[in-house]
Amino acid sequence: MHQLIIYGAPGVGKGTQAELIAIKLNLEHISTGAILRKSAEEGNELGLLAKEIMDRGDLVTDDIMNGIVKDSLKKINKDGFILDGYPRTLAQAEALSEIFTELGFKDIKVINLIADENEIITRLLKRGRSDDNKETIANRFKVYVESTSPVKEFFAKQNIIKDINGVGEIEDINKIILEAIK
Ligand code: AMP
Repeated sequence: MHQLIIYGAPGVGKGTQAELIAIKLNLEHISTGAILRKSAEEGNELGLLAKEIMDRGDLVTDDIMNGIVKDSLKKINKDGFILDGYPRTLAQAEALSEIFTELGFKDIKVINLIADENEIITRLLKRGRSDDNKETIANRFKVYVESTSPVKEFFAKQNIIKDINGVGEIEDINKIILEAIK
């Protein structure tokens, strides 16, 4: 069973790569951002709360995110999962470790997708999501550096994270990722 996490800065291509990997390996693609955006569209309680936070580029609380991910992981009925956009804080990473232990997932692999910040900002401005304007992007990077980067160290200490160059053709990058997680 594949137990994957894709990590990296906003706009580095996590969603695109995770989706391709999920199709090719028959995995559940768990994108926390996509789950929040869907809730926002539906206008439910979570969505109303999340929309404002997302539009600012801030983070939804750890408790909410941990609950969403735990529920999703309990329901896996494919050949595994790929987590995209989570964990985003050290507290989420620690909670996830407990969730993995509880659910018996022991063979976790983390892909660290890397790209230059200027390249990423150009990509984000082209994408045009409601949180892809200059101010929000700047805040998302700040949040990434301040809150999310410790997550990389957390995985590095466990020796389960692999760096992959995220600049290039989508299919080429995808092949490299698939090779790296074999
Ligand atoms: P993404 O699609 O991964 O770029 O996420 C879009 C937005 O959803 C982020 O800027 C956050 O506001 C929120 N979000 C997604 N995942 C998380 C998470 N793991 N923790 C907190 N907020 C999140």
